Amino acid sequence: MTLPKEEHSVEKEQKNSKPRHKAWIRYAEDRRLEDCAANLAVFISRCKTEREAVLWLLEEARKIGSPLEEPSSVKPGDVLYMPWKNRAFLAARIGTRPLAEGFRLIGSHLDAPRIDLKVQSLYEDSGLALFDCHYYGGIKKYQWTNIPLALHGEVHLKGGETLRLAVGEAPEDPVILIPDIEPHLDRDMEKRKASETILGENLDAIAGHRPLLGAEKDHVKAQVLQLLENTWKIPEEALVSADLCLVPAGPARNAGLDGSLLTSYGLDDRICAWLSWEAFISLDIPEYTSIFMGVDKEEIGSDGVAGAQAPLLDIFLSDLFEKTGAGAPSYGALRKSCAAAEALSADVDAGVNPLYKDAYDPRQLPVAGDGIAFLKGSGSRGKYMGSEARGEFLAKVLERLDRDEVPWQVASLGKVDKGGGGTIAKYLAHLGMDVLDMGPCLLSMHAPWELVSKADLLACLDAYRAFWKNA
Ligand code: MN
Ligand code: MN
Repeated sequence: MTLPKEEHSVEKEQKNSKPRHKAWIRYAEDRRLEDCAANLAVFISRCKTEREAVLWLLEEARKIGSPLEEPSSVKPGDVLYMPWKNRAFLAARIGTRPLAEGFRLIGSHLDAPRIDLKVQSLYEDSGLALFDCHYYGGIKKYQWTNIPLALHGEVHLKGGETLRLAVGEAPEDPVILIPDIEPHLDRDMEKRKASETILGENLDAIAGHRPLLGAEKDHVKAQVLQLLENTWKIPEEALVSADLCLVPAGPARNAGLDGSLLTSYGLDDRICAWLSWEAFISLDIPEYTSIFMGVDKEEIGSDGVAGAQAPLLDIFLSDLFEKTGAGAPSYGALRKSCAAAEALSADVDAGVNPLYKDAYDPRQLPVAGDGIAFLKGSGSRGKYMGSEARGEFLAKVLERLDRDEVPWQVASLGKVDKGGGGTIAKYLAHLGMDVLDMGPCLLSMHAPWELVSKADLLACLDAYRAFWKNA
């Protein structure tokens, strides 16, 4: 049987294209390669929610800078930071030029697809206690059943106390599973579309099974409530004001027999958050003020109090103007500073999966190991709702990358009218900034375990550094 015509053209294109493995050629002997992956693995294994990432960033920022409100004045090279609503984070390294002449920002997102617990989550059925859940972000629901999940999040008590939970990460911890139906009983499901294999309301997870004998009713639920109260000091009423979710349990791991890839939950997009933070802390005194930004809710449209559409950058910039001695900025001055700014939307792309080549545009595909990938334009169905970098800005960024010999490649979001998607880029563009999407390509994006090439990690780190450092 011959392959469909399209597959032939993909094969041919790959043969005719430039040599592969550009990032491996550049970095195979680089001592930083394994260190970079190992340090990322520590961060990404520990920070599985945007809140955990903010706490980590705060801890790291304290070592190199001061909270935005603290110093009365600053000088070039100083670092100021601002956590925002416990869900987003901003930091700036002051440059030699005044802020009125613009700044350089790298923005990533700290949230990742997951399974959220509903507000009144706990219920009992058929000898089990279950968490009633609602998925967050664009997941393939069937991938999230029958895998070990961990319970992460915060419970907020009246009076202001916060309790933090991460159950399922230590080897001795119990894990939580969403039970799928066995193949013996699912004949009807064979007729369902792939998107309906697992329905949204079937993503509830098993919270417990041991009954509290002597309880009036719902014996298993009563036992789980007692456990929450005794072990984690969480009263039943506080579950209503909790931010809890289920995420894949366990640490990041090396993948492939040669360990040349990293696999983990949450690579999209905490990989870019961590790499841009690494680049940020390595900066000397920059010419333009360099801004690190990590936001929430990108996976569901960048809305909400800490998404890219929230006013956190305006407030941060306004304070930076004052601290750098420029006084309280007018609305016009803030807008002009943004319009003179340059930004990268640091986010991942879909790398070509050799098992599903037909989904990709053969001339626009990023390949694992070929370097950092940039996406000139996003959106779908006629570029609708997308963002597009100006060609002159793109040329400027690539010049900076070439100067540091950073391997780069082009990316796309699949074939026209078949794929698509968005990032925070358009919300930065709304502020008048030139912005380009740039990050490593992943395999299995939004799956519980995503994959990335270790060589691409280093390309990404060097690219972010080159963007900030080279004029
Ligand atoms: Mn992303
Ligand atoms: Mn995503």
